[in-house]
Amino acid sequence: MKLKNLTKIALLSLVSFPIFAQQAGLSGCSVGLEDGALIKARMLENRRNISPDAIAAFQNQRAVTYIPVKYTIVGDNAGGGYVDIDQVFDMHCDLNNDYRTQDVQFVLKDATNSVRYANNTNVYNDGSGFSASSYMISNKSANCVNIYLSASVNNQVASYYSGFGDYIFVLNQMANGSSSTGSHEVGHFFSLPHTFFGWEGTNFNDGTAPNSVGGDPVERVARSGSGSNCNSAADGFCDTPSDYISYRAFCPYAQGGRDPQGAQIDPTESLIMSYFADACVDSFTANQKSAMAADILSRNWSNLAVPTPNAVVSGTSVTATAPASGSTFQLTGNVTLTWGAVPNATGYIVVLERTLFGTPIETIQKSVVYGTNSLVIPASKLTFPRQYTWKVKPFNQYQTCSAYSAPFGFTTQAPATAVENFASSFDFKILSNPVSNSSAELLMNVPNPTVAALSIFAMDGKQVLNVNNLELNAGDNVELVDVSSLNNGLYIIVLTSPLGSIQQKLMIQK
Ligand SMILES: [Zn+2]
Repeated sequence: MKLKNLTKIALLSLVSFPIFAQQAGLSGCSVGLEDGALIKARMLENRRNISPDAIAAFQNQRAVTYIPVKYTIVGDNAGGGYVDIDQVFDMHCDLNNDYRTQDVQFVLKDATNSVRYANNTNVYNDGSGFSASSYMISNKSANCVNIYLSASVNNQVASYYSGFGDYIFVLNQMANGSSSTGSHEVGHFFSLPHTFFGWEGTNFNDGTAPNSVGGDPVERVARSGSGSNCNSAADGFCDTPSDYISYRAFCPYAQGGRDPQGAQIDPTESLIMSYFADACVDSFTANQKSAMAADILSRNWSNLAVPTPNAVVSGTSVTATAPASGSTFQLTGNVTLTWGAVPNATGYIVVLERTLFGTPIETIQKSVVYGTNSLVIPASKLTFPRQYTWKVKPFNQYQTCSAYSAPFGFTTQAPATAVENFASSFDFKILSNPVSNSSAELLMNVPNPTVAALSIFAMDGKQVLNVNNLELNAGDNVELVDVSSLNNGLYIIVLTSPLGSIQQKLMIQK
């Protein structure tokens, strides 16, 4: 078996890296009848207390109303399991897209600590539990939309708005730029019930609906006349047609269900407050927008103080100051990443990755910094000889949608005076594991040239494959090992050299 050194064989840049399929996640929302009733009561109270003229005057001023949001990323008590801040920023951008037509822009409430990190195992384990709810209520930031994000590992409850606690909980998987979850829950926050309110927990499959469900009158199709109840039944809006679909449904609706008077229902599948699939929904009706405007007025949020600066920031013009992009240096201690400050940026997301031929294979560190344009990477996170890239995304309280900078690369070398700890900088990994084809692709990294041996063992301890005299060059080496003779299952690969011995689990799954 011939060893292929990376620096010599450019073809290996075609190696496939693991691509993780985007998790479908739990869609929808778990706001049930009880919270839904609180939301509807709030909407009706606003309708009684705030005159249509006051709402229209507010809406017609055509000035942007800035609504502050406080995101709190909740991990377990040890600080594990945080959702990626990029997902939160993507969700925030999508939220602003969905609310753009109502002259509302959501902004990060605070200039520093703009996205808060918190550790609470109760929230992390069960985002809908009593202890979790108590924590989220008592840790709210004042005068803003509070959105908590966590894993809820023991109870994959869908995201929800708490009518009682007036906060939003979003399951980590649902924080992204394509799910409508954030926009839907913010609709609840601003007093919008589900378009199908009353049917929560009851499946309307087809046929003719009863006069009432769960004790509430069923909304009829008629929009006017004596048969009409659209102003009070269901969500209380006459410009949202009767909708009985309380489960995740694809559009268009084609089941032909009928209202209690026998009229065929025709729900609007594009409404964000419905349960139609994410790909179907993108809008609010005029009455829904007016109700949200009324709620903003009732919260006295129509004219909150606005943050500065309000300007576009972009990562595309970021330059690396140190280490210079493309530089090679001896690793003698901590490495400070420094970049040219971006005008109007109040914070930066910084990502450092280990790379192979410029392609990231492992995230070494991802940090958010405020009020500075540098970040110290501890020596303990780096080793040599290695290739790394880092990139920077600037943001401010208004602008979370900017792109990352181009990646800046650097290469570490052994320090001249180092007492080299070979074993600690000798490692290998399996690049696509489980292995689904005839060869396993191994990445081995050694500080100095050496000769190694490779063995594969089945789980019963029997050796099934052995390769001796692997010549490894200093730095990254890639080896393709023929595993076509191995059956599906779990194996152990052991790499042995004068620098030490390392083992990795190998899964064959053809
Ligand atoms: Zn909902």
